[in-house]
Amino acid sequence: MSLYDEVNKRKTFAIISHPDAGKTTLTERLLLFGNLIRSAGTVKAKKSGKFATSDWMEIEKQRGISVTSSVMNFPYGGYQVNILDTPGHEDFSEDTYRTLTAVDSVVMIIDATKGIEAQTKKLFKVCRMRGIPIFTFINKLDREGREPFDLLEEIEEVLDIETYPMNWPVGMGKRFLGVFDRHKNQFVQYNGNEEEIYIPYEDLDKPEHQELVSNSTFKATEDELELLDEAGDNFSLETVLSGKQTPVFFGSALAPFGVETFFDTFISMAPAPKPRKSTEGVIQPDNPNFSGFVFKIQANMNPAHRDRIAFLRVCSGKFERGMSVNLARTNKPIKLAQSQQFVASSRGTIEEAYAGDIIGIYDPNAYRIGDTLIEGKEHFEYDELPQFPPELFKKVTAKNVMKAKQFKKGLEQLVQEGAIQLFKRHRTESYILGAVGELQYDVFKYRMQNEYNVEVELESIGERIPRWLKVDQVDESLFDERNILVRDREDNYIVLFRNEFALRWFKDKHPKMELIDLFEVN
Ligand code: GDP
Repeated sequence: MSLYDEVNKRKTFAIISHPDAGKTTLTERLLLFGNLIRSAGTVKAKKSGKFATSDWMEIEKQRGISVTSSVMNFPYGGYQVNILDTPGHEDFSEDTYRTLTAVDSVVMIIDATKGIEAQTKKLFKVCRMRGIPIFTFINKLDREGREPFDLLEEIEEVLDIETYPMNWPVGMGKRFLGVFDRHKNQFVQYNGNEEEIYIPYEDLDKPEHQELVSNSTFKATEDELELLDEAGDNFSLETVLSGKQTPVFFGSALAPFGVETFFDTFISMAPAPKPRKSTEGVIQPDNPNFSGFVFKIQANMNPAHRDRIAFLRVCSGKFERGMSVNLARTNKPIKLAQSQQFVASSRGTIEEAYAGDIIGIYDPNAYRIGDTLIEGKEHFEYDELPQFPPELFKKVTAKNVMKAKQFKKGLEQLVQEGAIQLFKRHRTESYILGAVGELQYDVFKYRMQNEYNVEVELESIGERIPRWLKVDQVDESLFDERNILVRDREDNYIVLFRNEFALRWFKDKHPKMELIDLFEVN
C-alpha cells in the first residue's frame, strides 16, 4: 500500500466529555466493534470478553498514580482507527489539553439529562481554538432528559458553534421509540434490545408500521422534523471540517442504541491526517521522510523504574523500529529502539507507524514536550505547542532552605518539561506555580522529592483567573493579594484575579488596560 493510502485510512481522534457522560461506555462499544473485526478467526480475541480496563489499570496501579492518556487502535471498515483517551476529572491536567494537539478530530459526548458541563466546555475551547472538527454524541436517550431543541440551543449558545442534527430522537426514556436518520432518510426503531430496525421513510406507510406511526410521540416528532428541515442550518461537510459546524447524533451508549450508525458516519466524515505547519513551511503527511512531535511525556512514578515514555504523534513518512532520527532542538541523532504502542489494554511493541499514528518511545531523559523528530537531512521544527491557561495556583518553597540549589534545578527542569507552569511574584520574586489540575501538583511534589531530593511546601492560593496585562509599565498599587501581579517565563505581566467579579470590577475601573484571556494568546 502506498504511503498516501496508509495515511488516508488513518482516523485519529479523542473523545471529550465531562465525567459520567458516558465516555468509558462509548469507548468500550467502539473497542468492541474494532475487536470483532480484528478477531475474525482469531481465538485469542474471542476468548476475552473484556478489554479496555484490566491490564492497563494494573500498569497504572503499579505506577501508583494514573497519569495516562492511553491510545487505542484498531482497524475498522478499511480504516485504521486511533482513539486517544483524555483522562477524567481527577486526572485533568495540561496533558489533557495537549492530547488535543495530536488528534485530527474530536467526539464530544453530552449527557442528555445534563447538557453542557464544565469540563466539556474547557476541552471544547481548545478544539475551537485549533479548528479541530467536532462530532457530537448526545448520550443517555434511554433516560428522561432535556428536550432535544433545548440541548441544541445550549450547544449553539454556550459553545458558539452551528449544530446539524444527523438524527432526531422520537421520545426519550420510557417513551423512546428511536431516531429519524436524516442522513440516510430512514427511521431507526428502538426495541429496548440491542437490535436496531431500519425502516426507510417510504416504508413507514406500510400496514406493519401502523402502530408506530400513529403513536402520538411519533406524530409530534414528525412536526419537529419538518421544522428542522425548514428552519435549521444546512449540513455542510466543509463547515464541519473547518470546526464551525458540529454534526449531532442522539443515542445511548449503554442500551446500546445509535452507536454503530454514529460511528460509521463519523469515521467516514472525520478527516485523515492533514499537512502540518513547521518552521520550514507545511509538511505533507505523505512526505517520505519520517517526522513527528512529542506531545506528552509520562514519567514513571515507580521509583524502581525510572524510565519515561514520550508520546509522539507521527506527522509524515513511515516510522520503523530501530530507526535513527534527528532531534531538531539539539540537532543530534537519536535511535528509536524501544517503541511501544498502546493497543487497547495491552502494551505491545510496534514495528511501523504512519502519519496519524501515536507511538510511545522510550525516553532516556532526552525529550521535551513539543520536540520534533525527523529522519534524514531535512531540518525543521513543528509549531510550538501552546501553553494552556492554568487555573489552580500555589506558592512553592523548599522545606529546607539549604536545598535551594536542587530546588531551583528541579523546578527549572520540571517547568521546562511542561509538568507545571512557573510564575514569579512581582517584586518579591517568590515562586508561584500554575496548573490545570490538582494532579499536576501531586506529580510535581513527588518528582521533586524522588528525582531531586527536595521536599517542597505548597501553599494554595486557590482557583484564579489569569489574564495577560499588555502593558510595558505597571502601576503596582493596583494589585494586592486579591488580584496578584506576577510575571511569566517570558516576563509578561499576568494578573491572577480572585474571581469573575474581581475581574469585572477591575475592567470597569480601568477600561483602557488591555487584559487578554490566555486561551486567546495561543
Ligand atoms: P465516563 O465518566 O464519561 O467515562 O462515564 P461512564 O461511561 O463511566 O458512565 C457513567 C455512568 O453512566 C455509568 O453508570 C454508565 O453505566 C452510565 N451510562 C453511560 N451511558 C449511558 C446511557 O446511554 N444510558 C444510561 N441510562 N446510562 C448510561
